[in-house]
Amino acid sequence: MDAVDRFRALLRIPTVSRGDTALEDREAFSRFRGTLTELYPRLHERLELEVLADGSLLYRWPGRGDGAPAVLMAHHDVVPADEPGWRHEPFAAELADDRVWGRGTLDDKGTLVAMLEAVESRVAAGFEPAADLYLFSGANEETTGAGASAAVELLSARGVRPGLVLDEGGAVAADAFPGVSGDVAFVGVAEKGMAGIRLVAEKPGGHAATPARNGATTTLARAILRLEQHPAPARLSAPVAQMLRALAPRTSGLQRRLFRSPERYRRALVRILAARGGEGEAIVRTTRAVTRLTGSAADNVIAERATATVNARIAVGSSVARTVDEVRRAVGDEVRVELVAGGDPSPVSPAAGPEWDRLTRAIAATFPEAVVAPYVMLQASDSRHFTAISDTVYRFMPFDLTAAERGTLHAIDESVRVATWLRAIDFFDRLLGEL
Ligand SMILES: [Zn+2]
Repeated sequence: MDAVDRFRALLRIPTVSRGDTALEDREAFSRFRGTLTELYPRLHERLELEVLADGSLLYRWPGRGDGAPAVLMAHHDVVPADEPGWRHEPFAAELADDRVWGRGTLDDKGTLVAMLEAVESRVAAGFEPAADLYLFSGANEETTGAGASAAVELLSARGVRPGLVLDEGGAVAADAFPGVSGDVAFVGVAEKGMAGIRLVAEKPGGHAATPARNGATTTLARAILRLEQHPAPARLSAPVAQMLRALAPRTSGLQRRLFRSPERYRRALVRILAARGGEGEAIVRTTRAVTRLTGSAADNVIAERATATVNARIAVGSSVARTVDEVRRAVGDEVRVELVAGGDPSPVSPAAGPEWDRLTRAIAATFPEAVVAPYVMLQASDSRHFTAISDTVYRFMPFDLTAAERGTLHAIDESVRVATWLRAIDFFDRLLGEL
């Protein structure tokens, strides 16, 4: 059995996380753990393994010295693959057109298995890391992230203060930023926060045959419009400025001038990015998406209560409290604004220093054609929990991916080129050499 076969064997085990945990196949998760033990015998002989209560895995590879330990992370749960239209069965791990197809090939078993392959080879070669090395694989990253938070509590209680922490994040991409040529390796130095906010309009109801003006649904609709008309303020945060500066050599003309001195052209850049919408806008401001609406329970009943759920992604430099405040000011006092759940943006890790250098040396050696750029991750990852015990948390996925390939994350036809996946093993081998 070679590396690709081991990868495929692990992809075939449907470790699907679901919002309702009662619907999860727990047996698949224990089968996955058992298969790991079989496929990576040397790793399991040399590293200590703790299976946390939720099934998340924490390995410790004892180091030669007592320097700051490193943590390499990759979750092994995947999102469901229930949607129709897959070209190849999502859990068959078929090999076709020089690709491995299936749920988890990119997010995040691809990374996990590449990492395990590199560790297994290094153990076999007698390698020992300079300091302790932890591998963490969450069993519920796609839902609660409870495993990561438990692992952090455990490490923190033991006084473990990691240096380098690496989790999923940006990829090596050729077409991620308009006007930027060539490959860029995007390394997340921070991630945005999140807030679930509910807008509630309450008015007398009654029979739909005799509606009153300005009922609950009308009031709510007005509030939603006001929310869109009054976006959160746009700002150029420090990591976004760093990213633009790193991209500057790959741009030309006016764009190059702006990107070279983002602080100096701050206002112009913010205006351009915000006007672009989509990702451009998301990197300069807190975004708010109205995702769910409720009204009355029947076609002929006027709602006494209408609600809208707002999913806000909070810009670095802002906070949950400020976001709720901004929403309140935008919608006015016709509706009630309730915070359902929230987490602040992560702290920002430095895009310099010894841990950054180790990571970027491994990236440069594996992807010599790419320029490394720090960036702010727009989605949440398990690594946010680790910012409580480490100041150097980075989010990078060692795959060179096209926009179309990135679009298959959490969608149909998730797949990875075999050559891309094998290169990820090289990346982890080089990174281990730095640890
Ligand atoms: Zn993931």
